[in-house]
Amino acid sequence: MALDTSWYTEIHTSEGSAFSLKVKEKLHDVQTPFQRIEVYETEGFGTLMTIDGLVMVTDRDNFIYHEMIAHPVLFTHPNPKDVLIIGGGDCGTLREVLKHPGVTRAQQVDIDEGVTRAAELYFPELCDSNNDPRAELYFDDGIKWVKDAAPGSYDVIIVDSTDPVGPAEGLFSAAFFRDCHRALRAGGIIVQQSESPLYHKKLINDMYTAMRSAGFDSTLTLNFPQCSYPSGWWSATMAGKGGDLSRFREQDASNKTFKTLYYNAAIHRAAMAQPEFMTT
Ligand code: SAM
Repeated sequence: MALDTSWYTEIHTSEGSAFSLKVKEKLHDVQTPFQRIEVYETEGFGTLMTIDGLVMVTDRDNFIYHEMIAHPVLFTHPNPKDVLIIGGGDCGTLREVLKHPGVTRAQQVDIDEGVTRAAELYFPELCDSNNDPRAELYFDDGIKWVKDAAPGSYDVIIVDSTDPVGPAEGLFSAAFFRDCHRALRAGGIIVQQSESPLYHKKLINDMYTAMRSAGFDSTLTLNFPQCSYPSGWWSATMAGKGGDLSRFREQDASNKTFKTLYYNAAIHRAAMAQPEFMTT
């Protein structure tokens, strides 16, 4: 049977599952020094970007991920001013971070400039805040950036990376978390995209171990849907340098001065609930 090239498919080999989107046309295909970036126009999900063949972002559902990796941590920290985003090359997380008026500086460090250049062309709305005077975009290895960062540089570090393979593999290590711990001020919080609880429970547990061995006092995984990612159930894991991750500025979240499509105080509270199988 001829391959039906009108479908993009991501196969999750180890799980025996796959995710497909009907494609109208391919818009972009670039091999950078780090990864292969492709962009498609799809029938039902708008524009799709893949990196090394894996779904990164679609027009239709990226709002859930970008809001949930940014707002819970920023409303958990008592007064976040200096924020570091590692990865995040599509700039959607940066846009959400800069909705918080108290944030005075947001540095984004993505290893691959090609991702941001593709986002500027095909996801311009995600790049809406790139010219905000508080935004600083760098193209470098986040592992090195944090290793070189002065102690106490940041209130929040957001790791919006690809899966723990290739250039992102080191972003899930105890050594990296130790450098993040040092780069954070007292009361600081790191949040990291932590894959699918259904498919990657062991990875999340290994993250807890690595974060605590790096000196973080507490960890908490936020659960949310993301239908274009493997299993459709995604997560982001926070680790705190002091403070209580289960308590957040609920009044501020309820009275937020900016628009969201998914995040609100009730969603924040619900996302902190842990499924039984994640507690054993
Ligand atoms: N939302 C996506 C997900 O959950 O898979 C991630 C989006 S973002 C496009 C992922 C970014 O991580 C990519 O732009 C990639 O270049 C970046 N990245 C991977 N390893 C990195 C590293 N060591 N330092 C900085 N950025 C890195």
